[in-house]
Amino acid sequence: MCGIVAYIGNKEAYPILIKGLQRLEYRGYDSAGVALLKDNHVNLYKKQGKVSDLENYAKQFDTSGKIGIGHTRWATHGLPNDINSHPHTSMDGKIAIIHNGIIENYDSIKEQLISRGYEFKSQTDTEVIVHLIDDILKKEGVDLAEAVRLALMSVIGAYAIVVLSSDYPDQLVCARKSSPLVVGIGQENDFYLASDATPIIEYTKQVVYLNDEEIATVSLKEGLKIINIKNQEKSPYVQELEMQIESLEKGGFEHFMLKEIFEQPRSIRDCFRGRLNSEEGWVQLGGLKDYEQRLIHANRLVMVACGTSWHACQVGEYLIEDLARINVEVEYASEFRYRNPIINENDIVIALTQSGETADTLAAIELAKQKGAKVLGITNVVGSSVSRATHAGSYTHAGPEIGVASTKAFTAQVTVLTLMALRLAHIRGTLSRSEFHQLTAELERIPDKVQRILESNDKIKEIAHIYHQATNALYLGRGSSFPVALEGALKLKEISYIHAEGYPAAEMKHGPIALIDEEMPVFVIATKGTSYEKVVSNIQEVKARKGKIISIVTEGDVQVKELSDHYIEIPETDEHLVPLLATIPLQILSYHIAVMRGCNVDQPRNLAKSVTVE
Ligand code: GLU
Repeated sequence: MCGIVAYIGNKEAYPILIKGLQRLEYRGYDSAGVALLKDNHVNLYKKQGKVSDLENYAKQFDTSGKIGIGHTRWATHGLPNDINSHPHTSMDGKIAIIHNGIIENYDSIKEQLISRGYEFKSQTDTEVIVHLIDDILKKEGVDLAEAVRLALMSVIGAYAIVVLSSDYPDQLVCARKSSPLVVGIGQENDFYLASDATPIIEYTKQVVYLNDEEIATVSLKEGLKIINIKNQEKSPYVQELEMQIESLEKGGFEHFMLKEIFEQPRSIRDCFRGRLNSEEGWVQLGGLKDYEQRLIHANRLVMVACGTSWHACQVGEYLIEDLARINVEVEYASEFRYRNPIINENDIVIALTQSGETADTLAAIELAKQKGAKVLGITNVVGSSVSRATHAGSYTHAGPEIGVASTKAFTAQVTVLTLMALRLAHIRGTLSRSEFHQLTAELERIPDKVQRILESNDKIKEIAHIYHQATNALYLGRGSSFPVALEGALKLKEISYIHAEGYPAAEMKHGPIALIDEEMPVFVIATKGTSYEKVVSNIQEVKARKGKIISIVTEGDVQVKELSDHYIEIPETDEHLVPLLATIPLQILSYHIAVMRGCNVDQPRNLAKSVTVE
């Protein structure tokens, strides 16, 4: 969390920083700030709130300068107020720093610095770094990059930092460990530094993703120089960005979330493009090719993830176990890493994360590797940390997801897992030729079916209107629709702040049924399939307690429709692919409910998209 951006070159830095911060705002929006170097003086402007609040505030001041750093914060240490906003500066105001991450041993460093006469202005962990650098510069007589390196040697935790100093007016020094940082190499001997490529894309396509414990200096005179924490020189690996600028704009939609919901026919198609051909009868996932034999002979597959990605794993478990008959377990990354799991070289760990930067998932990957397991990654962000930390993997190709609540990234993850299940089933021969053909052909039809569901937007909006003042909601589903229920509940609570819970439909009677009264909307995924009749009985149980039923049904359904207060039809599909369709109306419902409640849909309170802290 937290977005960082910096610029050095011949252009005015401030507009680049502000635009960059707006792009990075999904990573945190507690406060924003910039430090600009002008005539050997650091001008510092920071403000609680959004980037727009900073812009309003800074209007009255001089924001010129060709070198600067900017930050949008998701607070971990200290309240989200003006003082705790980044950048943080040295006592003489000459050095400024922005930081994404957590310094775990900041308390002891702070004590030592205080005993040496340093005064702290903020409650953040970050401020220790700037004083530490200042202290080293004064005591050791080294240059800025070396002072940063020495300071980072005493630091435990996660960081992506950029340091600016008025004594070094032609350079910026940056470094990373466990938090992302990318260096854009401009066309005019200028450099862009940022948490991800979104602030850089319109200026250059040439980027270098820093590796953990690397320190880079970008200098007007000497260009880009990278060393590691052990002071060994590293040669930069320059990559070409593939991102398109349009994907970062709202394209006429009121919110990014709505745009991303409506992009799903395309994002699902992009995800399986080149990986599936039902006519010719094949499915492939290039990135996993070398690991297929290991996958089918693995003792078990352990999937690790957080949040929405964890729900995608739950769907994956149903699919892989049912279609390929391979044992799968799903774990929260945060629990996995701290509970001393039994993992060995016969297991394969599959890590899912939209951003590829989720701190708990990265830590789980490291643990699995230490225990000898092969680790595969499934992520949306090309070049992200997960793609480098794993042995192999697949991208979801959903395109940048800006809305904090995940939508298209979820369906793309489910699509990759469906492809994986089909591929493994094919190699293992657990599906007949005709079953394989039917499923692959049906997967190819899914984008059109998603499109048809999107056409029910107005009807879903009417239902949203009826329930938008609810205070609680229950989501029920069975089989692979159970994780869809979980995801539906998460979507509602994270953007509309309505308390919502997802349950396996049959579990309702073991507790949650006590909550049901005439005020309680119950969203039920009741599509045609193996447990249809059972779900009908669960609906009857809710009705008997006067709960309101909003059902997701298969087109042409009669029985559930009659029992429901409201229903949303989705096209008929193979039972295994229902999650890809049933998720869509629940996303749309949550979106409209949140808008009607006046919530900030794209940037819900207390949340941030890329969870780079534990
Ligand atoms: N720990 C820093 C702060 O609270 C940075 C937070 C982050 O990167 O999420 O200000």
